[in-house]
Parts: sequence; C-alpha cells; structure tokens
Amino acid sequence: MAESTFDVVVIGGGPGGYVCAIRAAQLGFKVACVEKRGTLGGTCLNVGCIPSKALLAASEKFEEAAHGLAKFGIKVGGVELDLPGMQAHKDKVVKDNVTGIEFLFKKNKIAWLKGAGKITAANTVEVEGVGAITASKAIVIATGSDVTPLPGIAIDEKRVVSSTGALSLPEVPKHLVVIGGGVIGLELGSVWGRLGAKVTVVEYLDRVLPSMDGELSKQAQRIFAKQGMDFKLGTKVTGASVTETGVSLTVEPAAGGAAQTVEADAVLVAIGRRPYTEGLGLEAVGVELDRGRVKIDGHFQTNVPGIYAIGDVVEGPMLAHKAEEEGVALAEQLAGQKSHVNHDLVPGVVYTWPEVAAVGKTEEQLKAAGVAYKAGKFPFTANGRARAGGNTDGFVKILSDAATDQVLGVHMIGPNVSEMIGELVLAMEFSASAEDVARTCHAHPTLSEAVKEAALAVDGRPLHI
Ligand SMILES: Cc1cc2nc3c(=O)[nH]c(=O)nc-3n(C[C@H](O)[C@H](O)[C@H](O)COP(=O)(O)OP(=O)(O)OC[C@H]3O[C@@H](n4cnc5c(N)ncnc54)[C@H](O)[C@@H]3O)c2cc1C
Repeated sequence: MAESTFDVVVIGGGPGGYVCAIRAAQLGFKVACVEKRGTLGGTCLNVGCIPSKALLAASEKFEEAAHGLAKFGIKVGGVELDLPGMQAHKDKVVKDNVTGIEFLFKKNKIAWLKGAGKITAANTVEVEGVGAITASKAIVIATGSDVTPLPGIAIDEKRVVSSTGALSLPEVPKHLVVIGGGVIGLELGSVWGRLGAKVTVVEYLDRVLPSMDGELSKQAQRIFAKQGMDFKLGTKVTGASVTETGVSLTVEPAAGGAAQTVEADAVLVAIGRRPYTEGLGLEAVGVELDRGRVKIDGHFQTNVPGIYAIGDVVEGPMLAHKAEEEGVALAEQLAGQKSHVNHDLVPGVVYTWPEVAAVGKTEEQLKAAGVAYKAGKFPFTANGRARAGGNTDGFVKILSDAATDQVLGVHMIGPNVSEMIGELVLAMEFSASAEDVARTCHAHPTLSEAVKEAALAVDGRPLHI
C-alpha cells in the first residue's frame, strides 16, 4: 500500500462522504475515502436519487409521447416501449455520474481505498484487502442507510423487490403492489405505472407522504388516483407467498379487521430506510448509537473524540443534500471554520408528476406548536405558463407568522416545483417575510409567478385570481 497515514479518513463514498472528502481536500487536508461498493457515489448515485430520476424522466417522456401530445395538436402513432433501451439510459446516467466523482477524487488528490472499512481504534481504520490506515485529525462515518425490511416479507429482488430491484425490473409487471406511500414508493410506482403497470399502493397510515403538509398529501393522492394509482390506506400487509408467477399478499385494516388477499406480479417494499453501521466495529471502539443512528453532538462528533458522523447514518431526514451540507460543514469545522447546517430548512422533494416540494413547517406542525399563522395559496390553473405547458394540477401555499409575516413554511405541488423550492429556501434563510417574496419581481410568464401570487395571497391581495 502506497500511503497509510492521512489527516482525514472518510468511511463511505456517498453524497455525505464524497463531498466531505472533496471539501476537506480543498482545505488542504490529506484525505482518504474508504468505499466498499465498486463505485463511488453511494446509494444516491448508484441505486437511489440518480437512477430513479433517470427512469422518472424516461417514463415521463414515454407517457407524454403515448398519451400527452394530442392536446398540443401533435399526432403520434406507434409509440412503443423499449425497456432495455430505457434501462440502458439509466445505466449510462449512473455511470457518467459515478465516474464523474472518480474524476473529482483525482482532481483533489483524494485516495479512494476500495474495500470495507472497520474502525479498530479512535484513529485507525482497517480496510479489507488494503490494511490499517491512520487518521491524525478525524475519522468520518458516512456509511449511509439501507432498506428497512418488513417482517414476514422476504425480499428476493425478483418478485418481491426493494427500491434497488424496482430500478431494474426485467419487464413491466401487470400489477405492482407498492408497500409504503412515501417518497420512494410513489416515485417508483409512478415509473412503472407510466410504463403500463396497474399500481396499488398499500399504506399503513391513513395518508400518503405522511411527513408532508396534510393538504399537500391529500392533493397528491387525488392527482395520482386520477392518473390510475390505487390506494389502500390504513392497511397493513401481514404476509406474502411467492409463486412462480406472482405474489399473494395478505392485507388487513391497520386498526384490525378481516384479512384480504391481493394478487400481484411484483411487490415493492418501500417502508423506509435504516441507518447502516454493520461491520464498522463501533461497539469495539465504544461509539454510541441512538435507535440505530450514530449519536453525534452539534459538531458531528460522536462520543469518541476524533470520530465523527454525517448523512443518513445520523439523525435528520435521509436526503442526499442534507448529507452533502453536513459533509461540507464538518470539513470546514475540522479546518477551524464556523460552518453549520440549518436543519430547519432542508427542502423535501417528490419527483413524481406533478412534483411535490416543501420546506419549513407544515400547517399541522404550526397548529400543534400553537403558532398563529397566515396562509396564502395560488393554484397553477390560474398561471399562464402552466396553462401553456398543459400542466395545471397543483398549487403553491405559503405560511407566514401572523404577527411578523416571516415565512415559516412553503408547500407546493405542481410542474417543476423541485426547481422552484430553492427560491423559498433562500428567502427563508434570510428570514424573508411573505411581503418580501410578494414584492420580488418574477419573470413573466413563469411558473414561479405562482410563488409571488401565493405570497400576495398571504395578505389577501393576489392579482390573478
Ligand atoms: C430509490 C431512492 C431514491 C432516492 N432519491 C433521492 C432524491 O431524489 N433526493 C435525495 O435527496 N435523496 C434521495 N434518496 C436518499 C439518498 O440516496 C440518501 O439520502 C443519500 O444517499 C445519503 O447519503 P450518505 O452519504 O449518507 O449515504 P449513502 O449514499 O448510503 O452512502 C454510504 C456509502 O457507504 C458505503 N459503506 C457502508 N459501510 C461501509 C464500510 N464499512 N466500509 C466502506 N464503505 C461502506 C456504502 O457502500 C455506500 O456507498 C433516495 C434513496 C433511494 C433508495
């Protein structure tokens, strides 16, 4: 082995780990990143954000070509699905992204150590097939998360798949049952629904997207139902038996009641993800966990000095951009800077069509906290650009403090809202009021005018409705 001593050793090459490694190298540290997968980029680039968005984009185009162009005066005939071609598009997007990280590692002179890392002392990591390496400044645990299993339902990645298997189904199932009405279930359910599957979403709770604003989840479910998705809410899956041709699922009301059988060609288990710390040797070095997550202080440090943790493996939403922000902040703190992450303003996005995007507090949270607030809402049906593009489902809702008018939460469902939420995150970072947003000139005609109008509506003076 060429090198065995580093300033910073990062375990895990996902968005948390690779970004932390790059920023630490930019700041002059000698950095190694230990990654056991054959490629860099972690869950996000290999089997998460990026491949799912590649399939969402491709299936959106298929759906539009097959059914969505007539309203624009475009006649299309003989639209056919080439599933291997679509999978090849996804694979190429993943390859381009993960090799991009390899390039960035070379550019920043980061040593990529290929193998599983195990912490053997507060400054030592044993890398499988490589040997022991030391970190004089910090060991960073960025080992991410993996799929939460559902007791009684064995994932075989053929008929009963996790999100990873659902990204590579060899054919379009006639009936896909998605267990879990969260972000991943709805996104991958949308992909296969657009490609021709009948999709049934079984959700234990009485609503989809349970952590989002209630009005947003209700509207999202209504729109997805209109698109053909079936929902069995307040329902739990109690068993599955796999046959040669499909899966027989037993479901019953979450509150108790008679069991039913649902037949499916494929089942996607998407009930969530859990922190991944297997084989890391945390018990031996005494790193404490809290309900499976690595316990950290306000500076990402574990209870063992010199060992830090970021990303999905620690508390907070399991999102790539949250992991990245933590990676940057930690590297800068190690260099003596005063960086921090504003965990109150991590946006959440669902990349279905229409998209769903939110930041800050929901109405339910404000009510529960007894905060007096004002709400302003504007529908995309009244937005010229949305009409021109034929995408009028959805709305923008802005919640602001009743006394100060400071924006407390923004909840959107509609076309391209994933790109529009950034404006509001920025506004909220600067403690903007709804009036500030309302008085900001937005280009016409753009979808973002719905943001301005929602902000005007907070004060009861929208112009175009
Ligand atoms: C289908 C799907 C879609 C998603 N879509 C989005 C999205 O659109 N937007 C979004 O923000 N988030 C999305 N996510 C979540 C996102 O992928 C995660 O939040 C993000 O990857 C977390 O980054 P991380 O660096 O903490 O961990 P990970 O990306 O999980 O990376 C951890 C890495 O550590 C490696 N590792 C683990 N243990 C060891 C060890 N002992 N030694 C060496 N290496 C090790 C693993 O191989 C892995 O590569 C999605 C997830 C899934 C599954």
